[in-house]
Amino acid sequence: MSASRQPRVVIIGAGVSGIASAITLQRNGFHDFVILEKGSDVGGVWHWNHYPGLTCDVPSQVYQFGFAPKPDWSHVFAPGPEIQRYLADIVDQFGLRPHLRVDAEVVAAEFTGSGWRVETGAGEAYDADFVIAATGVLHHPAWPDIAGLDEFTGTVVHTARWDDSLPTAGRRIAVIGTGSTGVQVVSALQPKARQITHFVRSPQWVIWAPMQLPQPAFVGAVLDRLPALNRALYQAGMTGAKLFTDVVTRPSWRRRAVQQYARLSLRTQVGDPELRERLTPDYQPLCKRQVLSGSYYRALRAGNAELVTTGIEAITPTGIRTSDGRHHEVDTIVFATGFRAHDYMRPMRLTGRDGISIDEAWAKGPRAYRMTAIPGFPNFFTVLGPNSPTGSIPLHHAAEVTARYIAAWINRWSTGEFDTLEVTEAATDRFGAHVAEALEPTVWNTGCNSWYFTEGGHIDLLPFNRHTMETMLSDPDAEDFHLSTQGA
Ligand code: NAP
Repeated sequence: MSASRQPRVVIIGAGVSGIASAITLQRNGFHDFVILEKGSDVGGVWHWNHYPGLTCDVPSQVYQFGFAPKPDWSHVFAPGPEIQRYLADIVDQFGLRPHLRVDAEVVAAEFTGSGWRVETGAGEAYDADFVIAATGVLHHPAWPDIAGLDEFTGTVVHTARWDDSLPTAGRRIAVIGTGSTGVQVVSALQPKARQITHFVRSPQWVIWAPMQLPQPAFVGAVLDRLPALNRALYQAGMTGAKLFTDVVTRPSWRRRAVQQYARLSLRTQVGDPELRERLTPDYQPLCKRQVLSGSYYRALRAGNAELVTTGIEAITPTGIRTSDGRHHEVDTIVFATGFRAHDYMRPMRLTGRDGISIDEAWAKGPRAYRMTAIPGFPNFFTVLGPNSPTGSIPLHHAAEVTARYIAAWINRWSTGEFDTLEVTEAATDRFGAHVAEALEPTVWNTGCNSWYFTEGGHIDLLPFNRHTMETMLSDPDAEDFHLSTQGA
């Protein structure tokens, strides 16, 4: 065994998981890494998304890194731009800028037999011993295929590619889609729009929450002076988050109580029985990613707002025609239609051992051992990859825990224990079966469609609690991997 060698690592993506990975590498003494980011700045979804009303519906106290708790959030639920700034500040604070290449979209990554060759759209190539794909889940905007879209003469925008110069005041605006995004953008645009029409294919349960609640300045000042208290607050938030994990993963009176609160939120805010009827989903609250808002129902009740639940038939040059034959004249169509959440690294040309492509490996849908290792793709890891706990455990923490697991493997590589490692099919199957069984009693499996489902009908989430996730990623289990050394 050689003494200690420095790995060359390519991290793809500079969002939450890419930043967590880079800092974890640094903390393990690995400094030969590059972060390739296709956007013009860091932040991932928080860089790409800047539509009006964008607010994180997870309390800021847990929507942050454990190693960098921010004392002075402006709100209990931080606005999007503030989260992007937080991530950019961390990149500066931890000295990641020299490692960062922005506007560097990875178009191909190929396993060479001993490592990886990674290529960007600009024609640059990087050789690496390891690749960490931190490419995100809510990454590729989903554009629905609606007849006539090309003929529309007004403005069309997707929320994930918002044009900040787009005039919305005094306009007739159609918003299509009613996930967290649609609800936020309708609430934000309604006050100044001439007319806002919300096209809702499947109503969502919308739980009332004080999304605009400011965090008083003195709280930030106190937490800034008392970092131990700030850390304790973060830990308290993580403990509180356990309750949410429990509610979504196991049926109990606690789940029923939250579901009752969702029903109550609708009943108490929408007095008109006809409107309430049309806003009532035909599935259990919490089945889809839960939407939180303190302003959506109020916006819908306004004189300039209309809810349309009749299906869209076609887009015309001047508006939207619904299947009841009605024509809705609009100036602007806003697609709040979400993301292709299961594409992960694709459309990148990702080629593993023996020339296998990621599309071949994932022909039956994305799969990864413990969310991070893929059979056929040696020395390659995902962070917030398939089956990550996007619906149940604070994401920064999940990214940190996964990054530490990867670093533990890289540490073993650096001591010369192996040159390449590849997870076995059998271990990946075992993990998949364990996940499938644990998904049974989750609320996501109670009869709704959502972006949690892959095209193959699998729920792409982690149905375990934080402790289980931490345990499964605590210590690399060599029995689940093929380890090889060059020439062996
Ligand atoms: P989403 O939850 O996937 O919602 C997409 C919406 O578009 C659904 O209402 C869907 O209707 C509708 N839709 C799609 N195609 C359509 C079509 N052809 N015609 C009519 N309607 C169509 O997407 P999202 O709202 O962007 O949210 C995605 C995730 O991003 C959230 O669940 C959340 O995790 C995250 N997010 C978080 C925040 C935050 O505050 N932290 C804010 C925004 C987003 P169906 O339900 O009928 O398919």
